[in-house]
Amino acid sequence: MEAKQPVVIGVDIGTTSTKAVAFGEQGRTLASHAIDYPIIQQHPGWAEQDPEEIFAAVVKTVNAVISKLKIPSSQVKAIGFSAAMHSLMALDVSGRPLTRCIIWADNRSVEQAERLLDELSGISIYKRTGTPIHPMSPLPKLLWLKEEQPDLFRQTHKFVSMKEYVLYQLYGQYVVDYSIASATGLFRLDTLDWDEDVLKLLGMTRAQLSSLVPTTHILRGMRKEWAEQMGLDPNVPVVVGASDGVLANVGVGAILPGEAAVTIGTSGAVRTISPIQKTDEKGRTFCYALTPNHWVVGGPTNNGGILLRWLRDEFGSPEREVAKRLGIDPYELLTKYAERVPAGSEGLLFLPFLSGERAPYWNANARGTFFGISLRHKREHFIRAVMEGVCMSVFSVALAIRDVTGPLSEIRVSGGFAKSPFWRQMLADMMGKELLVPETHEASALGAAALALYALGDIPSLDTVKTWIHILSRHVPNEENTLIYSELFDIYTRLYDRLKDEFDVIASFQRRNG
Ligand code: ADP
Repeated sequence: MEAKQPVVIGVDIGTTSTKAVAFGEQGRTLASHAIDYPIIQQHPGWAEQDPEEIFAAVVKTVNAVISKLKIPSSQVKAIGFSAAMHSLMALDVSGRPLTRCIIWADNRSVEQAERLLDELSGISIYKRTGTPIHPMSPLPKLLWLKEEQPDLFRQTHKFVSMKEYVLYQLYGQYVVDYSIASATGLFRLDTLDWDEDVLKLLGMTRAQLSSLVPTTHILRGMRKEWAEQMGLDPNVPVVVGASDGVLANVGVGAILPGEAAVTIGTSGAVRTISPIQKTDEKGRTFCYALTPNHWVVGGPTNNGGILLRWLRDEFGSPEREVAKRLGIDPYELLTKYAERVPAGSEGLLFLPFLSGERAPYWNANARGTFFGISLRHKREHFIRAVMEGVCMSVFSVALAIRDVTGPLSEIRVSGGFAKSPFWRQMLADMMGKELLVPETHEASALGAAALALYALGDIPSLDTVKTWIHILSRHVPNEENTLIYSELFDIYTRLYDRLKDEFDVIASFQRRNG
């Protein structure tokens, strides 16, 4: 496809792939390209990626998009970067990796995270930094490196995230945007600077970290070799951008106060944008930077679409067979069966914590529970109860966010879950709020491109993105169902509280007997 208009490229360095998307006027997608890469699990609980492979994917995806559009380099107006949060790698003095890139899913620092919370003033570190104390975050990972690999820790010249590594390769400079920095657990939200107390605790100096820059910071003068390989002018403005989570809010148009973005893929997240930094007295939510006037408050849940996948794979062989014969997706059949059952699954309740839980409980020992089973409950009740359980967990995160930022008025959904109109309506009923389905392709890449335009002064504010996004459908809550769900949701939260201690016992049993 040929484009005459100026093009902005959003590059999203994600966990499963890097995607480059070229956008034209009004955020219209002109071309895109993605390259996948694996997660390396050298030991149980570890999750790493090869930085060279990811850097090569960045170069190749940008080049592929420019080739697909057949445009001269002069037509590329700017590039904006998005990247997954919480990654960490160690570099030597010549910028060579001493470790692979340790990603958010890596659990090696469970013990360090627990110790930070119990003995090392973790909750006050969370309140200063906005990052929950959890093995996903770089802070406990750094403590792990210090304790388990002290020689490597001492030899490390710089500790960086994946995006910083990419920018270092391209420009020979160590820079980190406030957004990625705000998800490390080392960055103070109030001073926009590294937290001296946390550095002291780690025995690190600020010289071992990159220079902090706003998300709108512009880099120019790319190394010729890479500019050539990508098909870019070395002086094209490259806007350092932010993290994928906060940019996804921009990309779905959940930008104004009270507008929440709910993404449910394998896992899930609820996020809203606040004009000021806000953390939670109870430590349930995160607060990450986007711009000085946009702070993203939210919470991740481990238990999203993975639960329906689990049901399909472990118990759904009859549905899989029928779906195969009919030539439809097994998920469609499962959700059709669930539709036969009234809201509330006739009193069958499901706590969905099959993978432990992050927000709002932050409890790795939490486990799943079916409650209230009776002889009247059939296969379809169980399917519906699982889908309702996912909605309850999303709702519980949204309530924690509401306590921090104020009421949420509008919900925008995306991810695999959003393919099902029935599941979307269920969430609207559960939350008692209108739910919108925006047309989204690559929300984080669009957010990165929009932030680049904002940095260049081409759009007056990020709100402009809202006018680019079409709403495909809307769901108005059914009041009767909302009442049923609110009664069941009370039981859900009480059940969690009552089972909390038992979850510890069964999780310990599972560890010993698993
Ligand atoms: P990820 O990108 O995190 O791997 P996806 O966004 O592809 O995940 O979503 C996958 C999940 O979305 C599935 O596990 C399933 O729960 C849900 N899903 C996908 N398609 C459908 C559908 N047609 N109906 C209901 N749920 C679906």
